Amino acid sequence: MSKRVFVCVLASVALAPFAAAAEGPGEKLAAAYPGFVDRVEGGELVMKSGARLKIDDGRTKTFEQRLADPDLDDMFADPYPAAGSAATAPGKDVDPGRYRTGAFFDAVYGDCRKGEVKKHLVQVAWVPKWGGGKVAFSSRAGAAEALAAVSKELEAGPPEWKKFLVPSAGTYNCRVIAGTDRVSAHGWGIAVDVATKYSDYWYWSDPSGRKVAYKNRIPVDIAAVFERHGFVWGARWYHYDTMHFEYRPEMLR
Ligand SMILES: [Zn+2]
Repeated sequence: MSKRVFVCVLASVALAPFAAAAEGPGEKLAAAYPGFVDRVEGGELVMKSGARLKIDDGRTKTFEQRLADPDLDDMFADPYPAAGSAATAPGKDVDPGRYRTGAFFDAVYGDCRKGEVKKHLVQVAWVPKWGGGKVAFSSRAGAAEALAAVSKELEAGPPEWKKFLVPSAGTYNCRVIAGTDRVSAHGWGIAVDVATKYSDYWYWSDPSGRKVAYKNRIPVDIAAVFERHGFVWGARWYHYDTMHFEYRPEMLR
């Protein structure tokens, strides 16, 4: 009997890394949003609100289709690079963190078009040492706490960083992405734009989005701070938006 127990303990220790590697989209979301996701069941993510979201809709999608109508599985189609890795031009149409299942984020943060997001916004002091003022951010799912932690760490960084961070260029904004009916991440109160003066945007390079030239002037060390606290960076996208940081802890697990 004691020998058998010993074997079982060894087996579970040996299997642990494989179990982590096999974590699917449902498990990643459950781990990143424990207050909102109840369980994974029958191919669905069951939210604590009772909402059920299909993990995989079974469709094979083009890049445009995935962007327009991603299921939960599609959100992870492009793996996010390791936090703090060098900023290099992503492959064609590689946009990790840019696919968002609206129904999931509505379930966590609310639908701004129904006035639900505003109720959960709190004011976060933005690099106060450098006079960054206050920014509105969602208090749900640890978003505001994560931004406060980023701010604290950034203002302990080199003084040259100030010009990239102050003034900030906006957080909450209930709007749809131009030319679509999809709500921007700013509409959930989970995104912050920094440094308009140093920002680059794919659209300015090629409005068709087919042949964009990569450009980024935001220091990767600044982005590394955000990434360590669960934010994705728009400079990691083929369709880059280098001033954009968005709280997406599921992508950085
Ligand atoms: Zn933005």
